[in-house]
Amino acid sequence: MTGGFHEPVMAHEVAGYLTSRPRRVIADCTVGDGGHSWEVLSRTKDAFVVGMDVDSEAVAVAGSRLSSVFPGRFVVVEGDYRELPAVLAELGIPALGGALFDLGVSSRQLDNPERGFSYRGEGPLDMRMDRESGLTAKDILATWSEEEIEKILREYGEERFSARISREIVRARDEGLLDTAKDLVRVIGRAIPGPAKRGGMHPARRTFQALRIALNDELSRLGGSLERALYLARPGGVVAALSYHSLEDRIVKDTFRSLEERGLAMRLTKKPVTPSEAEIERNGRSRSAKLRVIEKL
Ligand code: SAH
Repeated sequence: MTGGFHEPVMAHEVAGYLTSRPRRVIADCTVGDGGHSWEVLSRTKDAFVVGMDVDSEAVAVAGSRLSSVFPGRFVVVEGDYRELPAVLAELGIPALGGALFDLGVSSRQLDNPERGFSYRGEGPLDMRMDRESGLTAKDILATWSEEEIEKILREYGEERFSARISREIVRARDEGLLDTAKDLVRVIGRAIPGPAKRGGMHPARRTFQALRIALNDELSRLGGSLERALYLARPGGVVAALSYHSLEDRIVKDTFRSLEERGLAMRLTKKPVTPSEAEIERNGRSRSAKLRVIEKL
């Protein structure tokens, strides 16, 4: 985080697409700390941004950060981007000039150990983006079968050792030894064979990613949400998506390609835009980012 805020990824590139023409209303569907909204608002004189987030803390942070600096030009709503059409209808906004989906978790969420997103943290196994909603990661690990856990780790984590890890998870939870993020890291450490732990990414990374995606239902209806945003855009309007792992990127890529093939949109990025070396150096979390943008015909 810079200055205590999540650092927006490829902010210049994203804002460049969103402000390349006068576009009255922009929806920042995953507003987080409002970094991208800030960039869009400060580059334009009359753009109006509607921010959305499922996390009430993000809504509070973005609201207090932006509303006073850009009076009358920013509004933020707590909600799921799957409900974008209803939110716009409620606000009386008939059409969009652009929409942004910056997928995944924010640094604010990752760096707060209480939220349990990080394998470096000491907190409880929570991992909910929307803390007013149902199950925590601990709840699902306590109730799902070994087979269900294995499937999640394989599909959403692309984890090679999903069978071993799910077996160890079930053993630990049955012994009452699975409460915190640290406990889970220990269990994963036991499950993965020694040589596989050396070099490369942290051994717990794939499991944490998989649980987070499953718990927050991150991939279901992502394609549909992108399509709906395009539907809400006026001709010439853009939909931009930043993804951070291959499963997300595949959905974005396939959805955008299909919209182009159906004659509804044109891809402005034939290949995804990726961060510069300098940005990766400055902000390690941008490393895996891919930006794809379409324009409505
Ligand atoms: N662009 C932001 C950072 C966004 S991080 C910035 O520059 O500050 C991704 C955000 O998306 C998180 O705050 C997360 O809570 C939110 N999010 C995840 N799934 C969501 C959904 N289905 N609807 C709305 N917000 C969501």
